[in-house]
Amino acid sequence: MYINKKLVLGLFGLFISANSMAMFNEGPYVFSENEGYRVELICAGKARSFYLQAQSHIEYCGQRMALELTPNPPQVSQIEGAFPVAALSDIHGQYDIMIQLLKANKIVDENGSWVFGKGHLVITGDIFDRGSQVTEALWYIKWLEGEALKYGGRVHFLLGNHEVMVLNGDLRYLHKKYLKAASLIGTPFEQLFSKKSVLGQWLRSKNVVIKINENLFLHGGFHPNILGFKASLKEINRVFRAELVADELSVAKRSKLGRYLHGTKGPIWYRGLFSNIDREALSKILAYFNASRFIVGHTSHSEVVSRHFGKVIGIDSSIKLGHKGELLLIDKGVFWRADTQGQRVKLHFGER
Ligand code: ZN
Repeated sequence: MYINKKLVLGLFGLFISANSMAMFNEGPYVFSENEGYRVELICAGKARSFYLQAQSHIEYCGQRMALELTPNPPQVSQIEGAFPVAALSDIHGQYDIMIQLLKANKIVDENGSWVFGKGHLVITGDIFDRGSQVTEALWYIKWLEGEALKYGGRVHFLLGNHEVMVLNGDLRYLHKKYLKAASLIGTPFEQLFSKKSVLGQWLRSKNVVIKINENLFLHGGFHPNILGFKASLKEINRVFRAELVADELSVAKRSKLGRYLHGTKGPIWYRGLFSNIDREALSKILAYFNASRFIVGHTSHSEVVSRHFGKVIGIDSSIKLGHKGELLLIDKGVFWRADTQGQRVKLHFGER
């Protein structure tokens, strides 16, 4: 009998992926409830649910896992100082690559603990969607935020369009594992990040933009129309956050500024900094915010790139593809691209 080898291998692959899907672990999802917490998780394809008081460790599928349940630190719109800054973006569920980048560049040590001292780590959005290690990345970054504070450092996680999409129930780009998890838990996926969920509350506390020294960090960028609103960074963050989830608004519609900020020319969707913005408009926006450059994700490149002679730095280095990635390091006024091996190359501003 002739057996098509490719077909057999293909079927075997299907069996493996169906099998690993059935046996998958996922979570934990933790909800504030009755002065304690309700935990939902999936071990080997089976949903489990239990309550816990305020302790910070749980047993997660046979492993001890630290949960970060402390209140979310207040977010700032602007901060200045002589500390080093590392920035990366668009992790898209590629937790392993993120960890590799952080370890190789001495932001964290081999155990994942903070070793960046008084340094600031900025993540400009899009942890969610595409990949299959979103929950791991969210818990880790939330935990690292608390760790950094203990050493005088900071982690700034800013919202991207994929956070906002998921919170608003737009699940188009979700890895299929998460839909399966949500159905096993018996909750729509976006409700796993509701106002009562620890990660949901954490996400709802986040900013969309931060200015660190002369650098404006955000997910997509500012379109020139932002100037028409005469809004401060603080006001932009306040309105963006207050009008984050459309179904949770106390009024029927978002405000004029809220609609703009959540629209296609708003800070989480705009891509014009890499295409059609003219230099004069770019300079005007930067001057209004008293900044020298934008540092943004959202538009993918194969590495960290400079445009407009260093007025725009793109840090979405295509981590989403699951092979490699880069982070941007700013140390004593010098800008470096740094890869998963810890190799550094000076970023040149003069090319275009
Ligand atoms: Zn994006």
